[in-house]
This record gives sequence, C-alpha cells and structure tokens, in this order.
Amino acid sequence: MADTGIEKFKYIRRVTPYVPGDQPEHFRVKLNTNENPYPPAPGVAKVLAESDSHRLRLYPDPLCKELVDAIAGYHGVDPARVFVGIGSDDVLALSFMTFFNGEKPLLFPDITYSFYEVWASLFGIHAKKIPLDEQFCIRPDDYAKPCCGVIFPNPNAPTGILSPLSTTRRIAGLHPECVVIVDEAYIDFGGESALSLLPEYDNLMIVRTFSKSRSLAGLRVGYAVGDKRLIDALWSVRSSFNSYTLTETAVQAAVASIRDETYFRERIGQIVATRERTKTVLADMGYDVLPSEANFVFAGVRDGSAKRLAGFLKERGIFVRYFPGERTGNRLRITIGTEPQMDELFAALKEYHV
Ligand SMILES: *Cc1c(COP(=O)(O)O)cnc(C)c1O
Repeated sequence: MADTGIEKFKYIRRVTPYVPGDQPEHFRVKLNTNENPYPPAPGVAKVLAESDSHRLRLYPDPLCKELVDAIAGYHGVDPARVFVGIGSDDVLALSFMTFFNGEKPLLFPDITYSFYEVWASLFGIHAKKIPLDEQFCIRPDDYAKPCCGVIFPNPNAPTGILSPLSTTRRIAGLHPECVVIVDEAYIDFGGESALSLLPEYDNLMIVRTFSKSRSLAGLRVGYAVGDKRLIDALWSVRSSFNSYTLTETAVQAAVASIRDETYFRERIGQIVATRERTKTVLADMGYDVLPSEANFVFAGVRDGSAKRLAGFLKERGIFVRYFPGERTGNRLRITIGTEPQMDELFAALKEYHV
C-alpha cells in the first residue's frame, strides 16, 4: 500500500477493497460488468413514474414484506425462508458476517468472484482457496476439509461454468454443521437451481440478484432463500447493523419485475441465443471459449495478448473485463450484449487480428 500518511491515525481499519469493473461515462459498447443489455420489465418504469415523493418522509418497511412475499410466491417457498438486501453483495456481506464466524477456514474456489476474498479479510475470516481442476471445474471432493463454511457461485464467475447439482449435494453433505452458500447470480441464464435441494439440506443457502437477469443492477436488490433459522439469523444481524435497507421504490419496482414472467423469459431467451452465437463466432476466430451457462463468456486469447486486446477494444469504446493472474490473465470476460453490440465487438476483433 502506498504511503499516504494515514499511518498517523492508529485506529483506522485498513482494507484492500474489491475493485469493480469500470463504469465509464462514455462508451460505445459496455460488456465489462455483466449488466443486462435490455431494459427492465415495463412495469418497473411505471412504478418509478408513479412514485410519490411525499412517501419519502416515511421510513420504508424494515422487513420489505411485499417483496419477500413476492419472491416467496415466485419460488413456492414460505416467506420465512426469504431474506432481502441491497443487491446480493449486501446479502453476501451480511452472510459472511453471520455464518462464517469460526476459527476454521472458509472454503471457496480459486478462481471465483473476487469479492469473497475481500469480505473474508474485512470480517477476519480465515479463507482457503481450492483450485479449480484443469477444465476450470469445481471438484467437490476437494472440499472435504475442516472448514467454517463454503461458498461458490453457480455458474461460477468469471468462468461461466455450471456445476451439476450433484456437486452442490456433495459439498452440502460434507459439512452438515456449516452453512454452504450457492451464489446463483447467473442461474437464470441456463442452470438448474439448487433451490430444489433446500428440503434435503438445512445448511444450504441460495443467494440471488435482480441485477443481471432482471436488468436491475442500478436498483440494488438481492435475496437469499434457505432454512428459516438461517434466514432469521440474517435478519438479526441486518437489524443490528442497518434496519432500513431497501427503499419502498426498490421494493415496488422489484415486485413489478417479478410479476412480468413473460417479459423476463423473452429477454433471457434473447441473451442465451446471443451467447450461443457469440461462442461460435469467437471459437471460429480462434478463441478458447469456456462452456458458459451465464450472460458472459470467458474467452482465452491464444496469442497471449489478452491485456493488450482489452486495451485495443477500450480505445474503440468497447469495454470488456480483464483479470490479471496465472489462469485468468490470458482471457477476457465478455458480457453478452444485444446482437448489434456483439457485432461491433466481432468487427473490432477482426480489425485487431489483421
Ligand atoms: C454480480 C455478482 C454479484 C453481485 O450482484 P449485486 O449487483 O450486488 O446483486 C454477486 N455474486 C456474483 C458471482 C456476481 O457476479
């Protein structure tokens, strides 16, 4: 860390923060933070247009009951099994604080969502990273180690690779006394959710977000579904920290999104179709594309110039995400945009390779 003179203040907590992807003011095509290229359901715009500023006098419902009920209804679970927060990052941070409160290490994959390491460090949780196999897959038996919990995204990020439900079963079964979190930020783009395993494993908790599949990254809504005891524990910690989290507008807009299943399915269908075309086009151009089930692909650049290529694209206003590192540093994570956006990317890639 650079010497900024902060050492003078002896009691300040020093952390190395998570670095999110750029949110540039100007861009042509933004494919760097896995946002959805389509607008949210029309009902969301209606909620925002009709929102009444006089209501802002009042605190929102601390339990976000309308949204909890809508999510519970959508998944067919008891509302007592649903927790909501300010994006899944908030739900995850509170989960780290609540569930991984032990001496033994928290286990998560090496490579994964890089925020896990940051929360572990912030909350003083000892973390142990478990390498992915040669195909970038999670090997469940590698998680048969003493731990205070396990967390992994499914599909994983930034690989996009989906683990079968048997992996989740195996890991949850290994540690019945620990909480195992499956971060399903991308599950709507093709995977089978572990929600169906909840009746069998009371230590399993699923975390979801409205940011990606529901085009609501800017609204900040995420949730968890799990055993009532786990959900109660999360509400208790939340209420010991910040009792009013989601605004009433966020609650109403998120409910409007849930109500429009047809719109939701159609947009997912478009993104999945564009993803499959993207895989083919990139593979034809010589990229080593991992089998993604998410709204992004992790493409290997064969001539070893991933970082340079990211810079070349950025100069043309096309943003993709580059992660330095031994196994990630020769790849680019490319969010799936609209068809014309992907065509702009492909044209720029062709230009790069001439
Ligand atoms: C995007 C993402 C999140 C955070 O999403 P929010 O916008 O905070 O809901 C969490 N986990 C993974 C794996 C993600 O990719």
